[in-house]
Amino acid sequence: MERKLTCIICPRGCQLTVSGEADNLTVTGHACPRGQVYGINEVSNPVRTITSIVRVANREDTMVSVKTRQPVPKDAIFEVMSLIRSTTVKAPIKIGDVIIDGVYGTQVIATKNID
Ligand code: SF4
Repeated sequence: MERKLTCIICPRGCQLTVSGEADNLTVTGHACPRGQVYGINEVSNPVRTITSIVRVANREDTMVSVKTRQPVPKDAIFEVMSLIRSTTVKAPIKIGDVIIDGVYGTQVIATKNID
């Protein structure tokens, strides 16, 4: 197996090549160790941190920005986005408040204060 990827960890965007099999993957093209970790994870267990917004029910035309506390499986992005879209919260909201609990072993949390 050989797969070519662009590292998305920093703006440099190194072009990675991941080759080998599941328990013996080799990464080339990375300029730092983070790219090696990214390349292996992207092939074996790709995950993403999701950022979005949630409607604030008791504040007209107000949304609160949110994100997953930890990355979730890449295959679950649409499911988690659907869950976020169907959620409303009530102010006041503080940064770090749990908006949705139990999302692929993590939480969706607020990233903005709403008084
Ligand atoms: S390998 Fe390192 S330097 Fe290259 S894009 Fe990834 S994080 Fe940035």
